[in-house]
Amino acid sequence: MRIAYLERTVHETDGESKPNGDVSTISKSIDLQGSVETGDKTTIASKDFGGLYSTKPLALIKPAGSDDISRVIKAASRIPRMTVAARGNGHSINGQAMTNGGLVIDMRSTEENHFRLLNINGSFFIDVSGGALWENVLTRCVSRFGLAPRSWTDYLSLTVGGTLSNAGVSGQAFRYGPQISNVMELEIITGKGDKTVCSETRNPELFFGSLGGLGQFGIITRAMVKLQPAPDMVRWIRVVYTEFDEFTRDAEFLVSRDDGESFDYVEGFVFCNNDDPVNGWPSVPLDPVHGFNPGIIPQTGASVLYCLEVAFHYQKGDHPSTVDKAVAGLLKRLRFVEGLKSQVDLSYVEFLLRVKRAEEQAKANGIWDGPHPWLNLFISKSNIVDFDQTVFKKMVKDGIGGPMLIYPLMRSKWDNRTSVALPDSEIFYLVALLRFVSRGPSVEESVAQNREIVEWCIKDGLDFKLYLPHYQSKEEWKRHFGNQWTRFVERKASFDPMAILAPGQNIFKRTHLS
Ligand code: FAD
Repeated sequence: MRIAYLERTVHETDGESKPNGDVSTISKSIDLQGSVETGDKTTIASKDFGGLYSTKPLALIKPAGSDDISRVIKAASRIPRMTVAARGNGHSINGQAMTNGGLVIDMRSTEENHFRLLNINGSFFIDVSGGALWENVLTRCVSRFGLAPRSWTDYLSLTVGGTLSNAGVSGQAFRYGPQISNVMELEIITGKGDKTVCSETRNPELFFGSLGGLGQFGIITRAMVKLQPAPDMVRWIRVVYTEFDEFTRDAEFLVSRDDGESFDYVEGFVFCNNDDPVNGWPSVPLDPVHGFNPGIIPQTGASVLYCLEVAFHYQKGDHPSTVDKAVAGLLKRLRFVEGLKSQVDLSYVEFLLRVKRAEEQAKANGIWDGPHPWLNLFISKSNIVDFDQTVFKKMVKDGIGGPMLIYPLMRSKWDNRTSVALPDSEIFYLVALLRFVSRGPSVEESVAQNREIVEWCIKDGLDFKLYLPHYQSKEEWKRHFGNQWTRFVERKASFDPMAILAPGQNIFKRTHLS
């Protein structure tokens, strides 16, 4: 399709960072194999899963491939203050994949461009598009090759490029690191419009900069992801604790053990010590038939309790007694409340698609849609007791209308050369407050409470970072990156000198990086 004279349809409203009002057209035509949507057809790109922000792009580009993306970026660079944002599946919370009056590139239209198994010296990799959904990568890799990526997110309707631009963490990250630690090679269209292949040894600055790089250096069009043999089955287990120190002791014990001496997945969550169907005891059992027996909870149980969630991989051919014995051997080291244990066996693919099943149910009940003022934090082990006492036991003790995740990660499994900002300690916790406002505090209350939590973390000097960061000012970004700030800014200047790539323009104003 030949696009000429794409009309400027968006006018200045906030006077910030939008293309200059004098610029009324993209004067140079772009030859695109894909398509360009304007007007009402851009609606999808003006919102995201968070539902907190809305900004109207000039156009939504549906590229046929990386050459289209390169042309769009080059054309954008000729227009003063024009910006481009890659949109994966739009599952950000704070407008990170939006651009106000700029061009949004819909990466989902490139999903089918790459899907190739590679065997390099006996190690397997899958070469996939940046716009591929992880759930499709999973099902295709398992059904066609019996292989699967090693590190996941809990929910898989997210794109490869979207999670690699942040980190991608779940219960496997303690062993294999986040998803960004499991990538061999990337193909990127830089902010100059150049198509570049990069890896640890080839263009390493672009490779590491883009991993966790918030889409600020280039657009990931292809990723080569490490694979391993997929297990057939998973035993998924939840055990309950009344005491935070026992919960963290056991969780840290499991994530610190060598391969083969622990579970294959370790996560956890906080829940209310009451019968509230959403926030309380009923949210725990995996097996509804056996339910949750509150009569067993020791008197010491406070307003909130803790659930450690683990999983053990096995093959269909394994004898049940072998699996039982291995699992019992691991569980016997843990100090959970005797009797408060729940488990199910399911296929590996069903386990990894567990949140999709929850999504289907929530959609059917009208709970899934609506705003999601979620807060994701990384908190140092040295501050996690404070966090429990102030946040879990006081601020959110009545629940938030959704899961409150908490589980430990190991810094040594992350690569310091990537763009992700982490707390300093070797063990730090992912804390995620996944709010569904139809079942909890209102949007305004949730946003205010999130702000209060972050402000308290700053005021009390906690060693913490926002995960999926979204700040408003240059000072906040500088504090976020700390001593990585200069490296981040220099990389941006090197790969995106015109500051074309500006996701979430209202939030991540490009002037903040200059
Ligand atoms: P988008 O929201 O579309 O984009 C995110 C950012 O990446 C934007 O800055 C965008 O410009 C940029 N971007 C997108 N594609 C590209 C590309 N190809 N190249 C360069 N930049 C790009 N995260 C976890 O780590 N673990 C979890 O368990 C987890 N669970 C989640 C569950 C749910 C229900 C939801 C909604 C989110 C969850 N997340 C989780 C967060 C998720 O990883 C991020 O929000 C992710 O960015 C969303 O991916 P997306 O494809 O929708 O990206």
